[in-house]
Order: sequence, then C-alpha cells, then structure tokens
Amino acid sequence: MTVQPPEPEAAAVRRLVEQAREVLDAHPYPGGGACGGCLAGWSRLVPSPCEQARWAASVLRHYDQSPDDPSETR
Ligand SMILES: [Zn+2]
Repeated sequence: MTVQPPEPEAAAVRRLVEQAREVLDAHPYPGGGACGGCLAGWSRLVPSPCEQARWAASVLRHYDQSPDDPSETR
C-alpha cells in the first residue's frame, strides 16, 4: 500500500529534520553493537541501529536538503 503524505510545509520539514538530527546525535546510525542512546535514555539494550536511528536516517534521506548547495535552487 502506498500512502502519499500531505504536502509538507517548509517549516514543518525543517523542524522534522532538526528533530531527526537530534535523534541521530543520541542514536548513531549505522552504529553497531548496542545503541548507546537507548541504553542511556531508557536503560534498554537495543541492537544498533535502533528504531529511532533508522527513523531519523530515513527522515534525513527524504527531507534533508542542503540549503548551501546552489545546484538545489529551483
Ligand atoms: Zn537508540
């Protein structure tokens, strides 16, 4: 099943990307071993990359556009 999200507002996308970056700071991707962020935050031993790291990496892959790259200007 393919679900198309509603057209995102630029500000909402920026906020989402910021949150994803913060999540990646705590939960490194691709990581390896146990996730240090999950262990520190919730005392949970989770194989890294954990769900949070994969979510954040996916968000950045889809939405993170470098504003400094002039070739991206439309
Ligand atoms: Zn984690």
